[in-house]
Amino acid sequence: MRYVMKFGGTSIGDGTKIKQVGELVRSYYDQGNEIAVVVSAMSGLTDELQTIAERLTSEYAEVTEVSEFVHLVGKRHFDATYAAIEDEMIVTEVISEIETRLEELKNALTGIYHLGELTDRSYDYVSSFGERLSSPILSGALKSLKVQSVFLMGGEAGIITDTKHRGARPTEITERRVHERLVPLLQVGVVPVITGFIAYNIHNIITTLGRGGSDYTASIIGSAIDADEIWIWTDVDGIMTADPKLVSNARTLPQVSYSEAMEISYFGAKVIHPKTIEPAVIKGIPVRVKNTFNPSGASTTIVDTVTNDQSLVKAVTAISNVALITLSGAGMAGTIGVAAHVFSKLASAGVNIIMISQGSSEANISVLVEEEHLSSALNALHGLKSEFDGNIVKEISCNEDVSAIAVVGSRMAGTPGIVGRIFSRMGSINVNVIMISQGSTEHNVSFVLRRDSVRRAVESLHEEFSLSEPQ
Ligand code: ADP
Ligand code: ASP
Ligand code: MG
Repeated sequence: MRYVMKFGGTSIGDGTKIKQVGELVRSYYDQGNEIAVVVSAMSGLTDELQTIAERLTSEYAEVTEVSEFVHLVGKRHFDATYAAIEDEMIVTEVISEIETRLEELKNALTGIYHLGELTDRSYDYVSSFGERLSSPILSGALKSLKVQSVFLMGGEAGIITDTKHRGARPTEITERRVHERLVPLLQVGVVPVITGFIAYNIHNIITTLGRGGSDYTASIIGSAIDADEIWIWTDVDGIMTADPKLVSNARTLPQVSYSEAMEISYFGAKVIHPKTIEPAVIKGIPVRVKNTFNPSGASTTIVDTVTNDQSLVKAVTAISNVALITLSGAGMAGTIGVAAHVFSKLASAGVNIIMISQGSSEANISVLVEEEHLSSALNALHGLKSEFDGNIVKEISCNEDVSAIAVVGSRMAGTPGIVGRIFSRMGSINVNVIMISQGSTEHNVSFVLRRDSVRRAVESLHEEFSLSEPQ
């Protein structure tokens, strides 16, 4: 069998864990399988890299912060190397690789400090160091366990994207290039360890696929090398009926369809990046989500058609980092082109719209956007009041104190009563629903509420649909 196995940040959080991951990979390798490994940054590091990069543009930053930061990052990776790898020669090689990377990181951060500027391109470059530091350690751990291995950056493995930094998309040549670069390695028993999340554009400049994008890297590679299966190894037992951090009796879903997985991840289940599904669907490759710390425990398989499952509602998910923008004005009713104008302005500002609603009076339009896009969204909409005759769009307001919840399940389609149960339940626990949306596929019902009500709303819906019991 040919597998892609992706390990997330918590799975490789320290040297002991990296060693365990190495042993896990070896156990499948020893059974004669071909394995391409995709690895994330050690837990929390991408956040830290992005925070320091932003911080260094501030006039209050001190240049000493650069060396302090690089020292701490270095210590974490050196410690991990000593704990994960036994063979001393391999340790020396890996340490020297890490030292080179740290020097590059230091130069980049010093440059940002002096210029006081952070372009999207340098943001991606700095963000890439987490994966570029973890991949040599895991590859070294494999070699130390007598598994032949090389480490590669996403771009070296053949992932070539457009130039849209902080959320780049692979271009057409990726499929063939990844195949040409990786299949010959797999065929001679080498396990390539590829950095998740990062790629090259056509000029070999580092781009990133967006936060959480290592899952996407795994499926891009899985599709290109015609993998039999793509395994996402994480820190929980697969995709669950709700985030186990919000609902203590959340249960693993043994099977979900591609479309359910897409809806669950799109509406906030961080466990798998929404774009992961797309390349897998095209080739019909099953995706499994498994727990690195409980490899023989429950897991989820994402497939085309789910068998033996009667459940109407599969999962309740929540996204918190969102903001609601409302445009209103009595003259909006019946004025053709307002909605089109709003959406095209937001699109050209690169704002991702999560939900839209327009009341039947047409006197207002609300859009839910990611919080990080809020200021670009407001800037883009700024001119709108003056573009139409003054009476049309009168007010643009925003609310950041909101979250969105989605109730997901493909068998909900055509089943009456679900929507009623969701909102009467919200009424009974006194949760005020700010906005509602249901896609025409009816695979999810989503709504916006105040952020501080999220936990009790999710818990209560989980209970309403008895999701902790096998359906
Ligand atoms: P990794 O570092 O392995 O990529 P992530 O932190 O990105 O892991 O995703 C795993 C986390 O996703 C879990 O720890 C869990 O808290 C969260 N999560 C949110 N919703 C769900 C869900 N429905 N099922 C499972 N995990 C979920
Ligand atoms: N390290 C990247 C992030 O934290 C990618 C990932 O973990 O999937 O977003
Ligand atoms: Mg993740």
